[in-house]
Amino acid sequence: MQSKKEGYATCVYNEEHTMPESTLLWHYQRCPDSQRMKHLFKVCPYNTIHHIRYYEFEKHLQSCPDAPKIPQLNVGNDDPWG
Ligand SMILES: [Zn+2]
Ligand SMILES: [Zn+2]
Repeated sequence: MQSKKEGYATCVYNEEHTMPESTLLWHYQRCPDSQRMKHLFKVCPYNTIHHIRYYEFEKHLQSCPDAPKIPQLNVGNDDPWG
């Protein structure tokens, strides 16, 4: 009943490499394009299957779905020293 390829991932090093998301990490360890281009990429600290280009890395950290949510501090509203 699945109408779209949910759970499928594309290799960031070569878009012809598609596979189930669960095998993506394994793929990155073996992908020949990954070996060739790894100096252009950084691995997301929140999820090791996120391989991000250097110039997009900062942006990714702010939008990563696996990043921990940091609660906003309401400085001033509830200040015990005030
Ligand atoms: Zn690949
Ligand atoms: Zn990420």
